[in-house]
Amino acid sequence: MTFRIGAHVSISGGVNKAIERQKEETGNCGQIFAGSPRTWSVSEYEDEEGEEFQELRDEEDQNPYVIHSTYLVNLATPKDDLFEKSLNCLQSELDAASTLGVEYVVFHPGAHTGSGRETGIERIAEGIDELDIPDNVTLLLENTAGKGTTLGRSMGELRKMIDQADTPDEKIGVCIDTCHAHAAGYDLVSEEGFQDFIQEIKEDIGLDKIKVLHLNDSKDEKGSEKDNHEDIGYGNIGEEGFRNIVNAEEFEDLPMVLETPSDNRASYKENIEKIRELRE
Ligand SMILES: [Zn+2]
Ligand SMILES: [Zn+2]
Repeated sequence: MTFRIGAHVSISGGVNKAIERQKEETGNCGQIFAGSPRTWSVSEYEDEEGEEFQELRDEEDQNPYVIHSTYLVNLATPKDDLFEKSLNCLQSELDAASTLGVEYVVFHPGAHTGSGRETGIERIAEGIDELDIPDNVTLLLENTAGKGTTLGRSMGELRKMIDQADTPDEKIGVCIDTCHAHAAGYDLVSEEGFQDFIQEIKEDIGLDKIKVLHLNDSKDEKGSEKDNHEDIGYGNIGEEGFRNIVNAEEFEDLPMVLETPSDNRASYKENIEKIRELRE
């Protein structure tokens, strides 16, 4: 199977520009926002635009694609208005994915902001069940750094969300973010720690549910609960950790997407090159 590695690219100037940008970075899969990530606005796409997007992807062999939900979405919230807004936003993103032929929509499960972890998890499951997930799209829960009342820091917590939802299991998957896992306390660097992580994924989630990896190094220490992405090899996961991650046979067929910072230390292209080098 072809190794799939790409980057989160901008859709500024039109969604099809993302394909060009991805090509410049040498990616062969990727991720986009469907609108503006710090607002509630999600672009509506015409069928024609969707067809063009898919044609361009086929031409450039960029598969699969992921839409990352906006950062405002919080399905764990006890506030009804925020819950409703989050549902509407996610639904628009799922519909956009369907029109564009984008395979996955990934979102952060949310923060319970005081209602308690179990109540928050129930609320997320309830939210998932309210969504109409199109046939050609899979909804992905992303693991989180775990700060404050945010949910989804452990594989077990993600599993509870999936189990408590009545939505058919095959409509829901998981995206693992390496920076978030490290921040939440998982050891990805030592051989033993990494094997424990794999074991926990197998036991609590099941390998078949993992659909995408977000490859990000971390500016902070393991267990810091801080979500500060770093370029590959420059952070606390380091080349040692990424050698484990990109060579694990359990992950070898998964698309890997970079969300490294755009502060000019290393371009996406350089990060992709680094990952290809580490892959033995
Ligand atoms: Zn994310
Ligand atoms: Zn991520």
